[in-house]
Amino acid sequence: MMPLDTSFLARRQGILHVEDLALPELALMFGTPCHIYSHAALCANLRAFQAALAAHPAGARGLICYAVKVNSNLAILNLFARMGTGFDIVSGGELERVLAAGGDADKVVFSGVGKSHAEIHAALMADILCFNVESAAELERINEIAGTLGKRAPISLRVNPDVDPQTHPYIATGLKIAKFGIPIDAALALYERAARLPHLHVRGVDCHIGSQILNPAPYMEALERLLVLLDALEKRGICVEHLDLGGGLGIAYRQDETAPEISAYLAPLLDRLQGRNLKLILEPGRRLVGQAGLLLARVEYLKPGKARNFAVVDAAMNDLLRPALYGAWHEIVAVEQKTGIPAAIYDVVGPICESGDFLGKERELAIASGDLLAILSTGAYVMAMSSNYNTRPRAMEIMVQGGEAHMIRQREKTADLYALECLPPMRATPAPPAEPTAEMANETDKGIASRKQMC
Ligand SMILES: *Cc1c(COP(=O)(O)O)cnc(C)c1O
Repeated sequence: MMPLDTSFLARRQGILHVEDLALPELALMFGTPCHIYSHAALCANLRAFQAALAAHPAGARGLICYAVKVNSNLAILNLFARMGTGFDIVSGGELERVLAAGGDADKVVFSGVGKSHAEIHAALMADILCFNVESAAELERINEIAGTLGKRAPISLRVNPDVDPQTHPYIATGLKIAKFGIPIDAALALYERAARLPHLHVRGVDCHIGSQILNPAPYMEALERLLVLLDALEKRGICVEHLDLGGGLGIAYRQDETAPEISAYLAPLLDRLQGRNLKLILEPGRRLVGQAGLLLARVEYLKPGKARNFAVVDAAMNDLLRPALYGAWHEIVAVEQKTGIPAAIYDVVGPICESGDFLGKERELAIASGDLLAILSTGAYVMAMSSNYNTRPRAMEIMVQGGEAHMIRQREKTADLYALECLPPMRATPAPPAEPTAEMANETDKGIASRKQMC
């Protein structure tokens, strides 16, 4: 779990603080639900990764490309860009975000199985560092577009090494059955094709085996397979500049879980790369931001029952999808430790009309209606996966830095949610079953006229 009592999350006089700010004060200032990130935690996580790389001669020229999809708030991208990272993007939208946040295009790698013509064009115009190519057809398309622009596209192939990352099946990406990458036994032939295409520049070899990986052994297995490929490429005169080992290093979501130290994951890989003239690229996501965030929610109702007790809170699966999607576990703690309230076992649920709308099941909490709950380790794949299901505006995002709180995304307004919707022409409207009263018809017409003006 996001360990309580770290430098950025601690209880003082029984009240949970992020850095120097008490969560009840943040709730008063900004309302709930809201996503809160610790600036200090974000910096510390990135620094630890950078230090582990820099400490090893084989990592000294390495580059961290933060995986934008994990949490793409501009303030986080801007912080990381200022600290020297590059970015791993999976869409043209993410490229625009990175550039808007002040990121350098020449530190951007572009992954993803479905890059469109427009996305490839935009990335070539921006002069990104490398395309991580995921199919033969994509390779041909990139070559063709680069040709029309008079450019040579930097490419690596995303190789699928067929290793089992021992994680949830939805986030295992390096197995033979996954849609991602090029099977390792087909990679050599495709590299030879790439080397012959006139508008491509073969830059590297890439893989990404999965996410929330807690046992580093599969990384080594993947690296061994990639090194065999690299040697075969070299024999054919295809020399690459970089090796991209993707992201995936996990975090401890539960109190009884432990995640490997960054150095325990990296040092063996760097040892193995010692003496090879390769620049190492890593694409961490979750590990940099996951533990730096929490979701602050308020209990609306306690609903005791014979089979289950429910704590209905104002955050829901539209704010935090991971429990519903993966059966994921997030620690949930009361913001204020209260005496005199009996603890009970609750399912913590949201207001959405789905039985899958839960944030945590069977949690022991001493709480009353109106109390605040902190749902921990929500910096990764939480806001990024949020939706407007049930016409719920997305929550606000706050970055805490010492004793200051900065709003880094406004709370959405309900009107924002239907601002892009339009009504079709009136003639398409079926006749109502009964005549509305003149007054009702008049009101409806006024409403419709104003919607039509907007569109
Ligand atoms: C999602 C993704 C990452 C980041 O994964 P984490 O598990 O969050 O570290 C890195 N590279 C690629 C290609 C990805 O799709």
